[in-house]
Amino acid sequence: MDRQRMDGNSSDFPDDEQVCANCGDSIEIGSWHPVLAETDASGVFHLHPFCSPYCRDVWHRTQTTQNQE
Ligand SMILES: [Zn+2]
Repeated sequence: MDRQRMDGNSSDFPDDEQVCANCGDSIEIGSWHPVLAETDASGVFHLHPFCSPYCRDVWHRTQTTQNQE
């Protein structure tokens, strides 16, 4: 599978599949899953989907420790 990442203006989100931003598991779009929204330093909006609240918490902790600059 070939996944392309678009940085910048991606106005339409791919509907077919999402993967967990933490563990990389595929997420069922139809069912509820946690999502974190974030705007980076350059003002680009990111959405990070997660397969479970646990993965969201782990990922969030990793991000906050990495981004201390
Ligand atoms: Zn996960």
